[in-house]
Amino acid sequence: MSADNGAGVNGADSESEELSPSEQLDLIPARMLNEYAYCPRLFYLEWVQGEWAESEDTLEGSAVHRRVEEERGRLPPPDELAPEDRIAARSVLLSAPKLGLIARMDLLEGEGGAVRPVDYKKGSPGPEGPREENCYQLCAQGLVLRENGYRCDEGVLYYAATKQRFEVRFDSDLVKRTLQVAREARQAASQPVPPPPLVDSPKCPRCSLVGICLPDEVSLLRNEPLPEVRRLFPARDDAAPLYVVEQGATVGKSGERIAVRRPEAEEVSVRLIDISQVSLYGNIQITAQALRSLCDHEIPIFHFSYGGWLIAVTSGIAHRNVELRARQYRLADDHSKALPIAKAIVVGKLKNQRTLLRRNHPGSAEAALVELVRLARLAQEASSTDRLFGLEGMGARIYFASFAQMLRDPMGFDLSGRERRPAPDPINAMLSFVYSLLVKDAVHALLSVGLDPYRGVYHRLRRGRPSLALDFMEEFRPLIADSVVLSLVNNRMVGANDFVRRGTACALKDAARRNVIRAYEARMDALVRHPIFQYQVSYRRVLEIQARLLARVIAGELPEYRPFTTR
Ligand code: SF4
Repeated sequence: MSADNGAGVNGADSESEELSPSEQLDLIPARMLNEYAYCPRLFYLEWVQGEWAESEDTLEGSAVHRRVEEERGRLPPPDELAPEDRIAARSVLLSAPKLGLIARMDLLEGEGGAVRPVDYKKGSPGPEGPREENCYQLCAQGLVLRENGYRCDEGVLYYAATKQRFEVRFDSDLVKRTLQVAREARQAASQPVPPPPLVDSPKCPRCSLVGICLPDEVSLLRNEPLPEVRRLFPARDDAAPLYVVEQGATVGKSGERIAVRRPEAEEVSVRLIDISQVSLYGNIQITAQALRSLCDHEIPIFHFSYGGWLIAVTSGIAHRNVELRARQYRLADDHSKALPIAKAIVVGKLKNQRTLLRRNHPGSAEAALVELVRLARLAQEASSTDRLFGLEGMGARIYFASFAQMLRDPMGFDLSGRERRPAPDPINAMLSFVYSLLVKDAVHALLSVGLDPYRGVYHRLRRGRPSLALDFMEEFRPLIADSVVLSLVNNRMVGANDFVRRGTACALKDAARRNVIRAYEARMDALVRHPIFQYQVSYRRVLEIQARLLARVIAGELPEYRPFTTR
């Protein structure tokens, strides 16, 4: 950086930047100027929408900072700082309300009556020295110190990867640019939608929020010219769902593991980092420690009745993006905005029902296929949700009338269609059970992007009904749930002996229930080519991507919701 001593900067620039009292309440952390300069959208997602995702880079960064995060040493008030004092204070937090900034400084060194912040970076500098965005963050720390009355003319950037230390002068040019970045960041934060993603940028593969931002996917849907859509996140999750179905079991915590104690079997345990969600069926206890640990790790716990009815969800404090939920409620109340999404969902379901029939029907289902195409076209033109319900119902009758013919053994499945409560036959019992698994995963996907699963755009509001989750899962029913039932029956993984009858109701036996869960999870883990983005991802990832895209439509960032359909 320039060797300018920055004389005359302290005071004059900060006074010209004085903020209104309401702006002062919302202090921007100096670290966020680093994010804004790297990518304005990254800043918005992190700071305004409260998004966060651990990546290898952020974990390494935390390890580097752990050494300096403990508050140690004392920073004397500026008027007590004598020229002969040498100070070293770690993890110092100061705010500068006039500038609207706040900074936690890794280390403050003081000598000769002046102080200088030292900022630790886990990576390496750029080819020509300190990275620009790092300098803005460091300079913001200097400005915070100045507003607090300290003399601060320079700072230090330390890059752990290369063990290099760079002194950065806070000259008038750097201060000007830092204040400009702060101004732009504040302006961006006041907008209702995030800045658009960087287009085809080499920064994105290194960005910890790439799986949340979906830069190439959003750019494509915004009609930006792209050579290709890169899949910039893993095709599958590393963590997996944990199901506890054994009655009388207790779920507890043991170190960094979740342990399941079973009445007549050995205890099993799984590392917390390997769990993505927990499902408890019927009479299962869970300890307060396990519950808290799971919530701390943002792992939701789904509580089902013994029969598979989703009763409750326990999760940590709701996603910080409350503005998204406010928009969701407004949109759900606005028929002209909710209807296009509802139409897309129903069209997606009808198309996917047609695909499943076309792929699996042993004979000719031509009439049904033609009719499903016609219904999808009519759904596209529907002018009300009542009309959509009618078309969806007609589609279901046609589809389920052919469903039995796709089964090697229909086991008494009634050709007239699907019965829900109570399930009268094994096929209906399996469909109900698998749909409840899909509802659970729809709730999980929607919660994780910050939407409220209970306020839908298609299914009516009813107490206790997760309407948006029911809307959202429609397009996936044929591709995931119905497909699982077909493969269980046609691959003889379940048979008539796997069910019990209680009065007119039919239910899965314990062992069969485990088989169904296994088959469902195998389906969720199966890779599928995304029809719009053309890359391969697991169905579980597809749910997450669709939930994020739905959130971006609700937030007003994308013009329309496009359902997931396969050919
Ligand atoms: S993925 Fe790319 S566009 Fe998205 S926030 Fe990160 S750097 Fe910005």
